[in-house]
Amino acid sequence: MAFAIVEVCINCWACELVCPNNAIVEAKPHFFIAAEQCTECAGDYAEPQCVGICPIEGAIVDEYQKPLNPLGSLIPIPLKQRRETLTVP
Ligand code: SF4
Ligand code: SF4
Repeated sequence: MAFAIVEVCINCWACELVCPNNAIVEAKPHFFIAAEQCTECAGDYAEPQCVGICPIEGAIVDEYQKPLNPLGSLIPIPLKQRRETLTVP
């Protein structure tokens, strides 16, 4: 039972700050979730905190690789257009 961060992550730190289990690890090219520490926030919060704060659709996936913030679920600006306007470190 654990989520994962995938390549569209922009390394913004938002999820790292809210994880109750310190399961999110800074890394390049993108952050990752230490699976052994991720409880999907069970027992701490009703909703996974990283999923709730992540601004990037598709950056966090479940154990079946299903995006937890799927395309079109956050703001009505296409991902490609947002990537063109972002400065990714
Ligand atoms: S689901 Fe909860 S425990 Fe797992 S990485 Fe996200 S914030 Fe941390
Ligand atoms: S909040 Fe989303 S985009 Fe930001 S570091 Fe976490 S997974 Fe990456």
